[in-house]
Amino acid sequence: MPIAAIYGPDDFANLGRGYSAPPRSRVSPAEPARALPMPSLEWTPEVERATAHLYERVKKVIAPVEWPFMAPYVRAINELKQTRDAVILAHNYQTPEIFHCVADIRGDSLQLAIEASKVKSDIIVQCGVHFMAETSKILNPHKTVVIPDSRAGCSLASSITAADVRLLRERFPGVPVVAYVNTSATVKAEVDICCTSSNALQVVESLHAPMVIFLPDQYLAKYVASQTNVRIIAWMGACEVHERFTGDELRSYREADPSVQIIAHPECPPDVLAEADFTGSTAHMINWVRNNRSKRVVMITECSMADNVQAEMPDVEMIRPCNLCPHMKRITLPKILDSLVYLREEVTIDASIAEKARHSVERMINLKN
Ligand code: SF4
Repeated sequence: MPIAAIYGPDDFANLGRGYSAPPRSRVSPAEPARALPMPSLEWTPEVERATAHLYERVKKVIAPVEWPFMAPYVRAINELKQTRDAVILAHNYQTPEIFHCVADIRGDSLQLAIEASKVKSDIIVQCGVHFMAETSKILNPHKTVVIPDSRAGCSLASSITAADVRLLRERFPGVPVVAYVNTSATVKAEVDICCTSSNALQVVESLHAPMVIFLPDQYLAKYVASQTNVRIIAWMGACEVHERFTGDELRSYREADPSVQIIAHPECPPDVLAEADFTGSTAHMINWVRNNRSKRVVMITECSMADNVQAEMPDVEMIRPCNLCPHMKRITLPKILDSLVYLREEVTIDASIAEKARHSVERMINLKN
């Protein structure tokens, strides 16, 4: 059914628009004491030999001329992970040299959240955006969690504040609130349960309520509403990457090649999803390509994911509309190396906020399990 209503900041006057990823603090007071020496970053025959097996994984999407600039970082990062007892978590939207060559755990938000809760190593390096690093800290509070650039935000997370959620609750008393994981810890602390694009429908229906507030992605809310009889109150947030796709663009791909398969993320607007052959989260899209092995596939999501899938499945021709997430792209090999050398930039969350937010995230994970 269509969504019942859609709310936004203009519905609640005099609210300071609040959340964004915190300003970058390049040097914390603890850094000098815990810093390690910066490793050599020379391209040598030995580095070439040591990283040759990793280049094999990405040679379809990284040109040979680029590798001598990346390989010294790749080797240094992989060695420092051992020294620091660190693991690198990388989202599907990270670039191939990160995703395939230095990450230990890869996946969508749900997979990363589940894996973050199980990490035994001392340090988690989150290659993704700030709300993902917060989620890791929420689920594994005794570990040191660092993000290579804390300015890596998200247009969805910055669209809503904890105060907005409280006002929605006042307006709709007793209606349960579901928050997409693409929200700050302070928002997660105010809601009943979290969801990801992998499990949004399952989470909404698990509440057994006739009406649910679903925030902050209006397009994911519309997609969920189209799949359920639960009435959905939505928020006006949108992903700045997925909302740029249009139905016309998809039609032009199909006109150019009627045999092409088009798969799209549910953060896209409805006219885009109406043109797609399959709609699913990033994990579901990857599995779709693995299982179908179609000859040509257009992947309607952030561009780096298509590169990562192309590297894994060279037999499938991936058509890559290049919509990049500027926040995900803040994470680079040099910044990951800095993170490990200086333990920069550490993510901290107020303990009372973290405890409430943990309840919302764990309720989702337990549902999954
Ligand atoms: S791709 Fe969209 S939803 Fe994902 S981090 Fe970037 S802005 Fe946020």
